[in-house]
Amino acid sequence: MHQELAGVYSFLPLGLRVLRKVEVIIRKHMEALGGQEILMSALEPKANWEKTGRWNTFDVLFKLPSQHGTEYALGPSHEEIVFPLAKEKIESYKDLPFSLFQIQTKFRDEPRAKSGLMRGREFGMKDLYSFHATKEDLEAFYERAKQQYLLIFKEFGLDAKVTEASGGAFSKKISHEFMVLSDAGEDNILACSSCTFAQNTEISKHKKGDDCPKCGKGKLEEKKAVEAGNIFDIGIKYSEDFDVSFSDAQGKKQFVIAGCYGIGTSRIIGTVAEVFSDDKGLVWPESVSPYDYHVVVLDGDDAGVQKQLDELLTKFKDFDVLIDDRDERAGAKFSDADLIGISKRIVVSKKTVGAGKVELKKRNEAEGTLRAVNEL
Ligand SMILES: [Zn+2]
Repeated sequence: MHQELAGVYSFLPLGLRVLRKVEVIIRKHMEALGGQEILMSALEPKANWEKTGRWNTFDVLFKLPSQHGTEYALGPSHEEIVFPLAKEKIESYKDLPFSLFQIQTKFRDEPRAKSGLMRGREFGMKDLYSFHATKEDLEAFYERAKQQYLLIFKEFGLDAKVTEASGGAFSKKISHEFMVLSDAGEDNILACSSCTFAQNTEISKHKKGDDCPKCGKGKLEEKKAVEAGNIFDIGIKYSEDFDVSFSDAQGKKQFVIAGCYGIGTSRIIGTVAEVFSDDKGLVWPESVSPYDYHVVVLDGDDAGVQKQLDELLTKFKDFDVLIDDRDERAGAKFSDADLIGISKRIVVSKKTVGAGKVELKKRNEAEGTLRAVNEL
């Protein structure tokens, strides 16, 4: 990553590969949920934000004056775009349900951007919006989304706790946050020592040390956590604002019931980095490692080494391989490999040629092992 200003980053070659892998995983799970991908505009009309009342209440809204006299919001969220869009496509109950998602850059005018990728002014996000004819249908989808989210975090190697939180300014309902335990987190949660119960301390009526209200066996412990995702039952708030309605089977007009579901793609990278890194550098899980293998070539001018390298690369033609064939000391190459954190490292050298094998070491293991190339 390269920091441009506080909370604003450019992605460099390795970081961009991680981001793209995060996006591919999230996209796969949103499609499994039935979501259809779209890409909405980053510039949003002020009038829509006035209609929802959020032009003056959304505390970190970027307001962008145009030199031609108009004003825009630079999108931190897309209810103000997706609801007017949905209105044009929904007429009857037969048009429901459906869900739309996008993976896009979002903007928040944070007074104090800190914690690197955890709280940025410009950041990547997947947001999905679901539209339903009935409350029951929304609730069933919401539950499926919750389970799908847990599968996503599992794929990143993260243990996310589903935490009850407040529904925000417009919803009296409970929403859910997906909290990953980490000292780098800005949230505090109370989590049961024995079952899955967890609540954000902001809304909890309990305190640490209390008996768990769910299982009665465990004690509540207070932990720091990163909010890596959230899901909201937003009801008919925006459907009322933009008159998004449908005719039910009796021909009666009803407001569309909706949910919204977010995951910060760049924040996932920050969370994975915080949770898995060690004193030598980053430790990427295989699922988001910028490359599958980091091949360290030593004694590169040796014919035997070149032959073994060719054999290895032929074998690995379907994998993403980063080759370090720089004219550098072995120690420098190994420390760079640890720093970058690609999940598997392979060494090709005169020594490995002599053994008729290559050395394979996982980033999260201390020692490597010698393996024949055709066994890899
Ligand atoms: Zn419990």
